[in-house]
Amino acid sequence: MIRIEKDGWIVTGDTKEEASQGVAIVQNALRIVIPTTLSEAIRYFRDVQMCHDYMVRIKWPDGKIRCPACESLRVGNISSRRMLQCKDCRKQFSVKVGTIFEDSPLGLDKWFVAVWVTTNASSVSSRELGRSLDVTQKTAWFMLNRIRRNRKIAL
Ligand SMILES: [Zn+2]
Repeated sequence: MIRIEKDGWIVTGDTKEEASQGVAIVQNALRIVIPTTLSEAIRYFRDVQMCHDYMVRIKWPDGKIRCPACESLRVGNISSRRMLQCKDCRKQFSVKVGTIFEDSPLGLDKWFVAVWVTTNASSVSSRELGRSLDVTQKTAWFMLNRIRRNRKIAL
């Protein structure tokens, strides 16, 4: 079960069963293999184009990308910069728009690893995550905290 909240953030069901169902749907939709270790997750999410496509599928599961400014469905890709642009109001936006990642300069390749950690490897410390992502321990702590504070999502 996957649904989109008002703020564009994705949640899976509250119970374990519902959550795993959600993961299965996402996995099926993307035909992905969920990483089982931190180093696998780093390798897996290093592909920024894949992260971009993944986020598109999470945010707009019906494949209809909607402009956050005018709701238009006429949205095109600026593929060189992995940005999207509305053909009606001309607004440019990234797939991070309307999510807790929006105001962060960190890429989804790093954020998705942190999300993966909160879901699959809660014993990983912010120190270890920071070292793995090549960010400071403080940044890693902030990332984990922001994810945990906001929503339950599964990657
Ligand atoms: Zn627009």
